Amino acid sequence: VAQQPRFQRLTDPQSQVLNTTQVFIFDCDGVIWRGDRLIDRVPQVLDYLRAQGKRCFFVTNNSTKSRAGYVKKFTSLGLNAEASEIFSSSFAAAAYLDSKNFQATGKKVYVIGEAGIGEELDLLGIPHIGGPADKDKSPRMGPGDKMEVDPDVGAVVVGFDRYFNYYKAQYANLCIRELGAEFIATNTDAVTHLTDAQEWAGNGTMVGAIRGCTQREPTVVGKPSPLMIDYMAHKYGIPKQEICIVGDRLDTDVLFGKSNGTRAILCLSGVTTEQHMRGQSQVVPDYFCDSIADFMTPE
Ligand code: PLP
Ligand code: CA
Repeated sequence: VAQQPRFQRLTDPQSQVLNTTQVFIFDCDGVIWRGDRLIDRVPQVLDYLRAQGKRCFFVTNNSTKSRAGYVKKFTSLGLNAEASEIFSSSFAAAAYLDSKNFQATGKKVYVIGEAGIGEELDLLGIPHIGGPADKDKSPRMGPGDKMEVDPDVGAVVVGFDRYFNYYKAQYANLCIRELGAEFIATNTDAVTHLTDAQEWAGNGTMVGAIRGCTQREPTVVGKPSPLMIDYMAHKYGIPKQEICIVGDRLDTDVLFGKSNGTRAILCLSGVTTEQHMRGQSQVVPDYFCDSIADFMTPE
């Protein structure tokens, strides 16, 4: 009997995937868009799947926007999506704190990150400080100076922050080490594709800085942590075997799917090349394809 190849191309989407999948969870950057450019035929594929009764959800590790911010981005690209179909790591951080009933502690969150995290915390009534407001701050460091932090900080959320600075690092350091605040990372992506011309330092940068000074490991709420899949499976009552994760990265998306009991398809429309996929053996998607346009069988 001929052995099945380790990496299988999606050639017959209907029988390989569509017949047995009720819910698709799409990663955003590299699958739906690249930066600000929509990937070819995405609107047609989403219409096609929805016409077959499939539910589509969208998950992004990019914490800079809230779900409301992503609804605007979807609309501006000519795509339909409701806030309830979108899961960003900014939302995951807020939902995680909510699941632990953080509000009842009377504490606040110190935020390293852009607008998205604060917007999501506001929706759940979780008080927060830091974020964009600390953009231009720097600590005084004359003889005898020390930085004072708000004693009511009970958690530090670290997300991607283009205005990350030493003030924020020391604030987070003091909150975590001296107040015992919980260290939460929205995601730990090493690099991101802010522009399609090169790879840019991702949130692994900010998380690495806080890990470095505190010597603590964060709770990661974005992909590949199970939190978002568990949340969706629980909230919408979806059996995990009927879920297929579709993403462009092995270390976040495919791992997110395979370690959570769902199926996973790798699209080569983002950061992973076929050569890179074949050159590693740890994370094996159920199928790979060039892009989600391959979900539609050509007529
Ligand atoms: N974080 C940042 C800051 C990004 O710019 C991106 C992609 O552009 C990501 C994370 C990864 O997003 P996704 O999970 O949608 O691929
Ligand atoms: Ca991606």
